[in-house]
Formats: sequence, C-alpha cells, structure tokens
Amino acid sequence: MEEIGSVSVGRTQYLRKMYVYRCVRQPGLALGYISVNGTGYAYRCLQCKRLRKNRSLTIVNDAIVPGTQHPEDGHHEACKGVPLAEVESRQIDRQIRDAVRTTGKRPREAFSNTMCAIPKRYKSEELQQQVIVNAPTYASVRRLLSRHRAQRCTPIPDPLNILDLLRSTLRGREADDESSHKNERFLLYSGENGKPH
Ligand SMILES: [Zn+2]
Repeated sequence: MEEIGSVSVGRTQYLRKMYVYRCVRQPGLALGYISVNGTGYAYRCLQCKRLRKNRSLTIVNDAIVPGTQHPEDGHHEACKGVPLAEVESRQIDRQIRDAVRTTGKRPREAFSNTMCAIPKRYKSEELQQQVIVNAPTYASVRRLLSRHRAQRCTPIPDPLNILDLLRSTLRGREADDESSHKNERFLLYSGENGKPH
C-alpha cells in the first residue's frame, strides 16, 4: 500500500484544534484539517471547506485511519497544499497565544518556551531553520497579551443591563456558525433551590 503522510496537532487562527497533514506525494506541502462537529474522529480538509467541498479523514489518537482513498486523493481540484514551513510558522504564533490564554503565562515565558521547543518539534533541520526565520518576533508577541486581555475582559457599563457578548461562553463566542455551541449561554441558576431560569 502507498505510504500516507502523518498529522500533527495544531491550532486554527481562532485557537481551535486542527491537524496539520504533511503530504508525502508533494513533500514540503501540508493540508489543514478541522473537526467536522467539534467531537468525534472526523476531520475535514480546511482548504476544501473554503471551496465548498467536503473531504474528510478519520483521525484517532493523532493518527490517520487509512480509508479506501489515499489522504491526498479526492480533494477539490483547486485544493493545493500550503508550504509546510509557512503553516508551521503560523502555528508558533498560535501556540504562544494559546499558552498565554489558557495557562495565563506571561508572553515572554510563552515565547521562549515555544521557541525552545522548535528543535524537538521538527526533526528536519531545514524545516527548523525555516520555521525560526518565519516565526514571530518577541515584540509582536508582547502585544498579544493586551489583545487577549481586551478579549477576555469586556468592560461592563451597567451591571443591571449585561451585554449580550457577556451572556455567551467563550466557546460560544468563538464557535463556527454551523456549530451547536454557537452563542451558547452560560447556565444560570437563581433562588435558593437552584432552579434554572
Ligand atoms: Zn482539500
């Protein structure tokens, strides 16, 4: 059977989980895959999705489950791989943002941890070099914190009139239009008996 490429865990620009598929037929190119419905093992090609085609793969435990078709077959004719170094450099920026946001790490710490992990993450020295050359600078990363603080801390002008933005969860705010989590509300309880309202 023909060899298939491997996948590594990454983040979308909205920091949702995605997979980066490394092409074997076109070495040096990659395809992005995102979850079909937020749960389960089906992931669809991001490039095909933009072209309104559905091309999905089954990924279990960070590995592709081989199907009847090679992972690089069955894509939209305009779906082309993206240079892996480009995809991975964007991943560096997203990993730092994700660390700042989910762990509350300071940008300097998140930046140096992520940069130090580059040699471990990429076996090929050539790819390491390309990722380092294209990675964000510390100056650009420092600005991320204020952006994330602004996103997390929305001022409340009137406590008796809570903004709609603050009534939905972070997951609800960042979900895709098709997602069942889109604009999901916090579960609110009131009264001594904790009745939902
Ligand atoms: Zn595709």
